[in-house]
Amino acid sequence: MAGNRTLAIIKPDAVASGRSGAILAHLEREGFVVRAARLVRLSRAQAGAFYDVHRGRPFYDELVSFMTSGPCLPLALERDEAVARYRTVIGATDPREAADGTIRRLYAESKGRNAVHGSDSDENAAREIAFFFPESELADLAAT
Ligand code: UDP
Ligand code: MG
Repeated sequence: MAGNRTLAIIKPDAVASGRSGAILAHLEREGFVVRAARLVRLSRAQAGAFYDVHRGRPFYDELVSFMTSGPCLPLALERDEAVARYRTVIGATDPREAADGTIRRLYAESKGRNAVHGSDSDENAAREIAFFFPESELADLAAT
């Protein structure tokens, strides 16, 4: 069964250009609920570790520099089929290839500076959420 959580990051380009609120509103309109959020300026070691899977790829150094260039906003999001639904809502990695109305089409500048991160599997969603948020910090939506 598909999991119900994914890790989003509103990347430094979108935070710096004042698009965090619009992106969050877009995600909430699409049925995602925020379980945890944190504005954070990543160190090079943290960004490098988060994107370790891309180490050695030609864009890796640029990606780490970009992700440490200013604060970003990691979000633990919840809805049914969270990973797949979120990837549909953000669109393709390159905004020129992203479908009309997707977050990257609307808000991204380029393939590198592309406004948002999203997990690509339930396994990676769990790992990436844990990278930023201990389980104890995920808000219990049932609590009042
Ligand atoms: N990236 C890049 N150039 C590329 C591919 C990726 O700058 O040719 C950057 C981009 O910011 C992307 C991130 O590296 O979001 C991670 O790449 P991935 O292929 O995992 O894309 P995503 O899952 O973010 O769509
Ligand atoms: Mg990816």
